[in-house]
Amino acid sequence: MNECWKIAVIGSGPAGFYAAGELFRQKSWEIKVDMFERLPTPFGLVRGGVAPDHQKIKSVQKIYTRIAENENFRFFGNVEIGRDIFQADLLEHYDAVIYSVGSPADRELGIPGEDLSGSHSATEFVAWYNGHPDFCDYKFDLSARNAFVIGIGNVALDVARILAKTHEELAKTDIADYALEALRASQLEDIWLVGRRGPLQAAFSPAELREFMELADADVLVEKNLLELDAESQQILETDASNDTKKNIEILKQISKKDVSGKKRRVHFLFLTSPVEISGNEKVEKISMVRNQLVKRKDGSLAPQATAEISEAAAGLVFRSIGYHGKALPDLPFDQKSGTIPNECGQVKDPGNGNVLRKREYVAGWIKRGPVGVIGTNKQDAVETVHRMLETFLNEKLEARKNYANPDIVSLLEKRKVEYVSFADWKLLDAHETDVGQKHGRPRVKLTSLAEMLSVIHQENN
Ligand code: NAP
Repeated sequence: MNECWKIAVIGSGPAGFYAAGELFRQKSWEIKVDMFERLPTPFGLVRGGVAPDHQKIKSVQKIYTRIAENENFRFFGNVEIGRDIFQADLLEHYDAVIYSVGSPADRELGIPGEDLSGSHSATEFVAWYNGHPDFCDYKFDLSARNAFVIGIGNVALDVARILAKTHEELAKTDIADYALEALRASQLEDIWLVGRRGPLQAAFSPAELREFMELADADVLVEKNLLELDAESQQILETDASNDTKKNIEILKQISKKDVSGKKRRVHFLFLTSPVEISGNEKVEKISMVRNQLVKRKDGSLAPQATAEISEAAAGLVFRSIGYHGKALPDLPFDQKSGTIPNECGQVKDPGNGNVLRKREYVAGWIKRGPVGVIGTNKQDAVETVHRMLETFLNEKLEARKNYANPDIVSLLEKRKVEYVSFADWKLLDAHETDVGQKHGRPRVKLTSLAEMLSVIHQENN
């Protein structure tokens, strides 16, 4: 095939980069990829979501950088779809668009008091400690003694671990400087992880759970009676449980046998418990929780059901960590319930239109399948999307569009005075951050404001 296909990828997280990588792997297609990103910095949740003390996970950036170095790749950072360029511009300049914009919003608990000051989403806290420019001015009242983290997935564990770590532990990471200072003054003593179902249904992974046993100045606790499984869960443990689930139970048992050694902080695992109300005079002071029992749903899974057992506890901070949620994009269909763009194998479909498949618009990653899975899950997801797209080009006998209204998106960006950031610019920023980091024995010191980022790029370019 001698035609050259121009593909726009929206969003520079794992799904976007895996899609670009798969496009470049196609020997029989000549493909150029332009990637657009709202921030001046690439890599999505690898930079803004993965915990700062999980640097090994962040090393996946090297793979994405190799993809970005392909001569047919261009990065346009600091360009927002719906503000700087629009769907119509993309369809005018590209043969197809892959939206891989993730799930930037969060889910709500739907209980009274959730909006009180001191009640936050994990999304806000994670973005704050990771130096995301939109969240760097957020404030968290770390003079509180008790924090409750609702939900027990890996994000909840990240939040609890960052709250529990000492200044020395955090100072070795690339946590945002302002967060390092704020956490240094933290008065927190007790951090509660609250799971609505039992230990067998916990969504966290064993490696993340094990880290709690290695905290420098925080004890970790789980009451033995909370690990007693109901008959149904016990049977699942003996027959169908995954290796990860079995490992989780083993580690929790080890934790329950550990002596409390009087460390500065304590992290408590609570199971079969749901918050029912957060209360206080203008700010969070108290949390009321109900004990749950598990009941079997029609599909065989076990659901939490509230009992009459209510308890109350003093609380200064509450973080809801019950999953991310997608946001609608202008001119694209959106399913509010799942927070995804309706699609078939990554090909966008118009549900209001008799499920017609769009030929030139595709999705990959969390906006395609919902906010589940680890970084690597996005690879097979993006591969599926890319192959569906290329098959559609062939099956529909589409031709690469030669007569573009504008020869190149750059002229449009320049006309609109969009100050876009190239991958070479990002590398200057990256070098700046890592150089400053090295001087302080840290992987990098992040720049956290857009103005600062753009100013460093200007300085380094001149
Ligand atoms: P998650 O894994 O889906 O966990 C969400 C948690 O919230 C579950 O415990 C869930 O309980 C609970 N929950 C949901 N609705 C609730 C409600 N109304 N009340 C109380 N609890 C509720 O989501 P996540 O932690 O945000 O993580 C998102 C994805 O990123 C996951 O696939 C995760 O593994 C991945 N991730 C991985 C890492 C890592 O590998 N280190 C780090 C961070 C994130 P139920 O099970 O009862 O629904």
